[in-house]
Amino acid sequence: MPTPRERQQGPFFMTRSPAPLLPLDDALSQLLAGAHPLGENEQVSAFDADGRVLAIDVVSPLRVPPQDNSSMDGYAVRCFDVPVAATELAVGQRIPAGYSANALQPSCAARIFTGAPIPAGADAVVMQEDCELLGAGQLVRVKRVPFAGQWIRRAGEDVALGATVLAAGTRLGPAALGMAASVGLASLTVARRPRVALFSTGDELVMPGEVAPQQMPPGAIYNSNRFFLRAMLIRLGCVVSDMGIVSDRRDATIAALRAAAAAHDMVLTSGGVSVGEEDHIKPAVMSLGTLDLWQIAIKPGKPFAYGRIGAAHFVGLPGNPVSSFVTFALLVRPFLLRLQGATEVAVARSPMRADFSWPKADRRREFLRVQRNAGGGLDLFSHQSSGVLTSAVWADGLVDNPAGAVISPGQQVAYVAFADLLA
Ligand code: AMP
Ligand code: MG
Repeated sequence: MPTPRERQQGPFFMTRSPAPLLPLDDALSQLLAGAHPLGENEQVSAFDADGRVLAIDVVSPLRVPPQDNSSMDGYAVRCFDVPVAATELAVGQRIPAGYSANALQPSCAARIFTGAPIPAGADAVVMQEDCELLGAGQLVRVKRVPFAGQWIRRAGEDVALGATVLAAGTRLGPAALGMAASVGLASLTVARRPRVALFSTGDELVMPGEVAPQQMPPGAIYNSNRFFLRAMLIRLGCVVSDMGIVSDRRDATIAALRAAAAAHDMVLTSGGVSVGEEDHIKPAVMSLGTLDLWQIAIKPGKPFAYGRIGAAHFVGLPGNPVSSFVTFALLVRPFLLRLQGATEVAVARSPMRADFSWPKADRRREFLRVQRNAGGGLDLFSHQSSGVLTSAVWADGLVDNPAGAVISPGQQVAYVAFADLLA
């Protein structure tokens, strides 16, 4: 008897694959449900905290700005003293940023600069363009009648005392680091970095730098997955142990997995995750721990495995470079962020106009490599095969195309930017 999901997936279940294909959203929810935060935090300098996930709320111990200050170079005045345009006032003091101010005397103005404190008694700043200095500079003529509060930044208008300026679970970026500094923090409490062991499987793989292009043995290809997976892991704040290439042998695969799992939060592999005789990942993980081999209903990227070996998470990505790239971005990235306690792991889809046609819909949800064009629409890379890494280099994002959907030029599609997916 087919399960309800299998029945719903009818065609896949009946004709396409012996195992039902798991919808991407289900795979992601299952993954995230098991992504319990690492739970260990560390204190890092705010200089080194870019990209890290904040573990504790940042609460402001002061107001920002700490006092009323001028947002213009000009003259601080009391509006009462300037009832009409062209009123002349004595310039009683000069207040640069970083200096304290004396109280404003009646019928006086204070020369003031951007960021300098407003003197007690003043209730407006007149910008210098609306003033004229007279004589030797002891008098100023105010050419325009000010209104109360003009060009004054109020104490606490950015941050109130006791306000939570950054919430735990925030992934820190440049603006957040600036905010933490503005309330006086030189260091921040963040989740520790996940330790990830990475290896590539495949007897056909050779390393650039070790074998020259002219000396490539027949059947050999360069290991490209290792480079982009490592780069993406590092961007996500992980400490990467790069274990290189593991050959397509059961014993070698088991030994590599066992060693990797003992000392890491996650073991990430590419290749060998299908069900051919040369694919040893599945039986190797099963002999050491538990495995859910998922055939995910997306293209590219159908083969994907998740499991556990001891305390370590195991993720097996497909070998085809574009499949590896896309499944990492869609599934592993949110998983690794959640391990660090990040609250926001979803990536926005924006509606954009397709300037291409996609007449043959697939039964799987597809992620097409596209590029924004100067006309505000999207162009499609000509070759969408999962082995063609050129498509991912050319593209600046993916179209998330529902299963069975054809695309005609001019139609709205859901675009996901690499800038978000790979950040
Ligand atoms: P597999 O999943 O091991 O069956 O590999 C699928 C395809 O991806 C094969 O054509 C492999 O040669 C290729 N492939 C596997 N691993 C890599 C890698 N690290 N770099 C580049 N291509 C790979
Ligand atoms: Mg292989």
